Amino acid sequence: MTSSSRLIRRGAVAVVALGALTAAALPTFASGGDRTTAVRAAVQGGKARNVILLIGDGMGDSEITIARNYAKGAAGRLAMDTLPLTGEYTTYAVNKTDPSRPDYVTDSAASGTGWSTGHKTYNGAISVTPDGKAQPTVLELARKAGFRTGDVTTAELGDATPAVLAAHVADRSCEGPADMAKCPKQDKVNGGPGSISEQQVQTGADIYLGGGRARFAQTVKAGPYKGRTVIDQAKAAGYNVVTDTAGLSAAKADRKLLGLFADGNLPLEQTGPLAKAGGTEPSRCAPNAEFTGPHLTDMAGKALQLLDAQTRHAKKGFFLQIEGASIDKQDHAANPCGQIGEHIEFDNAVKSALDYARHHADTLVVVTADHGHTSQIIPVEADSPGQTATLITADGAEMKINYATTKPGVSQEHTGTEVRIAAQGPQAANVVGVTDQTDLFHTLSRALGVGR
Ligand SMILES: [Zn+2]
Repeated sequence: MTSSSRLIRRGAVAVVALGALTAAALPTFASGGDRTTAVRAAVQGGKARNVILLIGDGMGDSEITIARNYAKGAAGRLAMDTLPLTGEYTTYAVNKTDPSRPDYVTDSAASGTGWSTGHKTYNGAISVTPDGKAQPTVLELARKAGFRTGDVTTAELGDATPAVLAAHVADRSCEGPADMAKCPKQDKVNGGPGSISEQQVQTGADIYLGGGRARFAQTVKAGPYKGRTVIDQAKAAGYNVVTDTAGLSAAKADRKLLGLFADGNLPLEQTGPLAKAGGTEPSRCAPNAEFTGPHLTDMAGKALQLLDAQTRHAKKGFFLQIEGASIDKQDHAANPCGQIGEHIEFDNAVKSALDYARHHADTLVVVTADHGHTSQIIPVEADSPGQTATLITADGAEMKINYATTKPGVSQEHTGTEVRIAAQGPQAANVVGVTDQTDLFHTLSRALGVGR
């Protein structure tokens, strides 16, 4: 927190005085000043050498506000709040049997398919349209055009958001060769391209970092690697396979990298009281004693370091997606500290990306979400029919968080709201206003000069 933001928090009178006295010392995009020149300077067309796409899963405006209030205070700002150009985009999916009808509440698979391929699809679909057709993804197009590529997440690598860039299956559950019940057409025993994890190896991005080791340890059922694991398949395809923070930091740029740091999703950064019917005592979050690492920022930093090294003397740069996955998963679990801890770590990864872009101005950075989620800030005295928890924020104030999209004790639901999209760098102006998730595919591919 800067001393100026601490001052602003004391009230409106302080803001007026501050604006008059120290305007020159404030950051370019600080509130209160005339931003016209700064916004104009932020509008760049042309091509980007690098694209960094950061996805906060389930990170609606409400989740952003909750994390900001808790970690920075109401008048503070997250790193993701500092991007110069901001819009909102619509997230709806479509009905599988009648794609002309919207399905207003999307999941991560349909929404990810939107920005990775430019096509609307049904909930559960991984980069296939309702007619079953595989659509090329921005990562695949970038790779074909000579860019280096990376895909980083705190979830299993086969989870929807990392999957949509590098795999095409009828249902998101088809993560490993033993999980193919809902994807007979893609099953290798039927001559298909295989599960999500097999397809990720076959697509061949330079870097995959996340969880999901158990899926990659499953046995390939047909084809040249029949009887061996997907990890064996990855090694044969030239991947350096690492499973812990030491292995991650030792990884070199001369080989492809597959990091599998947990059997399932990566552990949470923070713990605290779960929301419950009738509410909780006011409390603060604490670091998770069972956290094993690596942090999302460790993975994001390593990916940036390796991709930078791999492209330094190359004609083309890189495309990198970084996902903070468990904002969503802990929203489902009505776990506010889990949700906030993941959000703050995701914001740290945003800061890493912005630091990189500061020294590489031809980098497009996009920060967005895939869908809204359940958590809401409600009055401390409100009597909710759902589950609530009260946290003590960085302001020293009480914030009551409400989870009430389903009955208490049941996994909370996504919401159908539009969500924030913010950007800087070449083509960033295309996120301004109200757009749709499928428009992001065109913004990214235009920036890279790939696709149509
Ligand atoms: Zn979800």
